Amino acid sequence: MSFYKAEYIWIDGTQPTPKMRSKGKVIETGKEPPIWGFDGSSTNQAPGAASDCVLNPVFVCPDPVRGGDHKLVMCEVLLTDMTPHPTNTRAGCAAMADRYKDFDTWFGIEQEYTFFDGVKPLGWPDNGFPAPQGGYYCGVGADEVFGRPIVEAHLDYCLAAGLQISGINGEVMPGQWEFQVGPASATAASDQLWLARWLLYRTGEDFNVSATLDPKPVRGDWNGAGAHTNFSTRQMRAAYEPCVAAAEALGTRADLHIANYGHRIEERLTGQHETCSYKEFRYGVSDRGASVRIPWQVAVDQKGYIEDRRPNANCDPYVVTRLILETVCGAASK
Ligand code: ADP
Ligand code: MN
Ligand code: MN
Ligand code: MN
Repeated sequence: MSFYKAEYIWIDGTQPTPKMRSKGKVIETGKEPPIWGFDGSSTNQAPGAASDCVLNPVFVCPDPVRGGDHKLVMCEVLLTDMTPHPTNTRAGCAAMADRYKDFDTWFGIEQEYTFFDGVKPLGWPDNGFPAPQGGYYCGVGADEVFGRPIVEAHLDYCLAAGLQISGINGEVMPGQWEFQVGPASATAASDQLWLARWLLYRTGEDFNVSATLDPKPVRGDWNGAGAHTNFSTRQMRAAYEPCVAAAEALGTRADLHIANYGHRIEERLTGQHETCSYKEFRYGVSDRGASVRIPWQVAVDQKGYIEDRRPNANCDPYVVTRLILETVCGAASK
């Protein structure tokens, strides 16, 4: 008999920011990855006396790390009665996407992150700080770029897995990088973003470098890390007025969005470093100091998409996309 290895990946119950977990299953060739279980008492998802939780596959792709016929299996967590576990935010996202499916919404998420070498960002001196920000964003050269081989390996893995990854770039703070996923539906973009995060951590293992989604990894005059979320409805892709209406709708529920866009968002959305303060809401064309940016090209074309710049790097994309659907499609349905 022949077999393949399936790495089951899920999101745990750690508060305030969940962590990713995975474990491997050997499956007979030709069989689909089945429902599986795990010990929820070790992941903050169940008491020890009733510890079983269920892993339900939602997205399966080739495993680029193991290669061959091996697979990665992104899962949602269920209770043993097959209803969503309280930590399962995907179920609410899927329900909202279904409610507003006529809008044919697309999401493209820019995931920023920071490599760490032990306790300091990769490339930083043992004592003190590197030269101030200015030359690092999209930079080139050994004095400004730290970790490119890891970024390239991660990009290759994402492509081999078949993820809709659309680009990478070096960021404003040294050791900080970004990749983009999408455009895709709320659930597809979010499933793939979580999987791409797992692949990032896994790639780092082979380089002895960790990656963090900490929204403000270094205090002071250094950029934080976000997850700008670009989105469009069918109507926005056809005309400008719905783009403006979407930005207006986001302004009516700003506090709710801020409260659900990632832990420690106040430390990042200070009004400095290309952010708008979490206490304000503002949108504008080309404005990287706004909460929501209408890209320049969209204003020229008079159609397209808008960018919600507020989500933290450590946000849960299932929650972010669910809220955007609810707020924007809800307002448009009135
Ligand atoms: P930035 O200029 O903000 O750095 P990026 O190029 O990093 O922008 O990211 C732009 C994102 O917008 C990409 O993830 C892309 O997939 C997404 N995007 C492009 N067009 C659309 C659209 N019509 N609807 C939703 N997302 C889109
Ligand atoms: Mn970007
Ligand atoms: Mn960026
Ligand atoms: Mn952006």
